[in-house]
Amino acid sequence: MANNMMKAIVKDKMAPGATLKQVPIPEIGDLEVLIQVKATSICGTDVHIYAWDEWSQSRVKPPYVFGHEFAGVVVKKGKLVNNVEIGDHVSAETHIVCGHCPQCLTGQAHICANTQIIGVDRDGCFAEYVALPAENMWKNDPSLPFEVASVQEPLGNGVHTVLAGDVAGKSVAIIGCGPIGIMSVGVAKAAGASQVIALDLNEYRLDLAKKMGATSLVNPGKENPLEVVSQLTNGYGVDVVCEMSGHPVAMNQGFKMVKNGGRVSILSLPVKPVEIDITNDIVFKGITVQGITGRRMYETWQQVSGLLSSGQVDVQPMITHHFSLEEFEKGFELMLQGNCGKVVLHP
Ligand SMILES: [Zn+2]
Ligand SMILES: [Zn+2]
Repeated sequence: MANNMMKAIVKDKMAPGATLKQVPIPEIGDLEVLIQVKATSICGTDVHIYAWDEWSQSRVKPPYVFGHEFAGVVVKKGKLVNNVEIGDHVSAETHIVCGHCPQCLTGQAHICANTQIIGVDRDGCFAEYVALPAENMWKNDPSLPFEVASVQEPLGNGVHTVLAGDVAGKSVAIIGCGPIGIMSVGVAKAAGASQVIALDLNEYRLDLAKKMGATSLVNPGKENPLEVVSQLTNGYGVDVVCEMSGHPVAMNQGFKMVKNGGRVSILSLPVKPVEIDITNDIVFKGITVQGITGRRMYETWQQVSGLLSSGQVDVQPMITHHFSLEEFEKGFELMLQGNCGKVVLHP
């Protein structure tokens, strides 16, 4: 911190791309901490911002530092901070919530009406240092490798989705094997699912789903997923569908492959409204449909820590690439192509 400057990946223009720059190390407020970032992973959201798609054009305001998934060490704390100490290993809940809306007041802060997201609505962690509210810190066991700790936030999305209902002894389909889908396979296995069926068009990602414990792999580009799932479930369909693709065709297949009385939990964010046969695929089937956003604060984080520290979920096979901050463009290119699991940057 000699000259009070640091390296950071700045979303500096209203256009595709980003630039590695020297920027001032952020100042902290009385309720904030400064964290030295040791590992930061690239999320789908960051890829949207990098590519400058419609969503990011409507939401983010360059110039700012993006990135939100990380693990690091507290190096400075505000004078009113008492929940973490200098030297603590931490990650962060990336949703900064208001604490006073109806949701926050009833234990549902993950759907706070006034949510701000790190690296989207304020400066993020693609940098050597990040300043954040101490309230959002999640303390990590120091024995947890930084790259593993950096993926707890997206793992939390998977845990929240898979464990939003009963899983033990049930058949689970994971539609869409991006990093969260791949980790969700491991979560469903750890939670005692009898079958975990992974569906994706990308063979590289299906292979990672296999390494995470998928019992069946389905490539809808090569075979009819409804036929395969029907065969695997004696014609009844799966108990649980976790929708993580956001693709309208795959989403419809999800509603058709769930058995009567089953559950469809949707984490994906389709870019446009999706047409669903509510009469036949929801009402007559008597299914439960859930929207899943963020992580329950902080039940999901406790589950994530438990699954990692016990070894019930091993995310290492899913962390496929490592780069320095300077090499970020290689990481983003890989993410755009899809032939990767999680890409971790090391500042
Ligand atoms: Zn993320
Ligand atoms: Zn709130």
